[in-house]
Amino acid sequence: MSKRFFSEEPLVGERAWLTGSEADHLIRVLRAKPGDQVILFDNSGWEYPSRIIALGRSRVDLMILERRWIDREISPPLLLAVALPKGERQRWLVEKAVELGVTELIPLKTDRGVAQPLDRALQRLRRVVIEASKQCGRNRLMTICPPRTVAECLAAAPAECEYWLAHPGEGSEPLSPLLGTANSRPVLAMIGPEGGFSDQEIAACGPACRRVSLGPRTLRIETASLAMVSAISLIDRDESRSQRHL
Ligand code: SAM
Repeated sequence: MSKRFFSEEPLVGERAWLTGSEADHLIRVLRAKPGDQVILFDNSGWEYPSRIIALGRSRVDLMILERRWIDREISPPLLLAVALPKGERQRWLVEKAVELGVTELIPLKTDRGVAQPLDRALQRLRRVVIEASKQCGRNRLMTICPPRTVAECLAAAPAECEYWLAHPGEGSEPLSPLLGTANSRPVLAMIGPEGGFSDQEIAACGPACRRVSLGPRTLRIETASLAMVSAISLIDRDESRSQRHL
């Protein structure tokens, strides 16, 4: 049973409350009672062990017992720009990206891709992000950006970023020798649609963008995404990470 619940309201002071699906889950699915303890998080990086003090029909009131700074984020940031597949494959990819620590997910508008999710669909994906964060212990939500083209992704990437575009075939370099640089710099990893990136998209990337091979087999979008993200997230070695209790 997940004991972690997400508060849309920033948590300040000693009292908190949950409404909507988070309250519903506690009241109807878990049949929580006053006195039960849960952990709240609010996307600030803090988590808050709390005690339930009252349950209504659609609202749960809680007393915050403690504030804990628990950093489970990747540092430096990891941005994944991907031509999202549809339906269940899309939800699965988003869930796994959260678990593996992706900082920002950018739906990629590509020459050969299907339409990327907009507004309401992005809101539904945010729910997937919240559920995955509850399960894996992240206290910050992976950001889902509005859809962008490859050129827009490059323009919006953080300073000092490594740009890696996954593309099978000749002229692409293997991933593993590049991984050392991911230790100290943000990475923008870009994964194309089923039809691959067009020549124009590859040309638009310019020399600063590395073309990366993920091996001799053609991977599906979600496999390529997770292969790249896993490799980067597993070499995350930020020594400054800390746990603070106030
Ligand atoms: N026939 C397409 C092509 O040649 O690009 C295959 C597209 S693949 C289904 C979808 C995306 O996953 C690609 O655009 C690429 O970003 C990534 N990908 C899949 N297999 C890869 C590999 N072996 N090396 C690098 N990238 C790969």
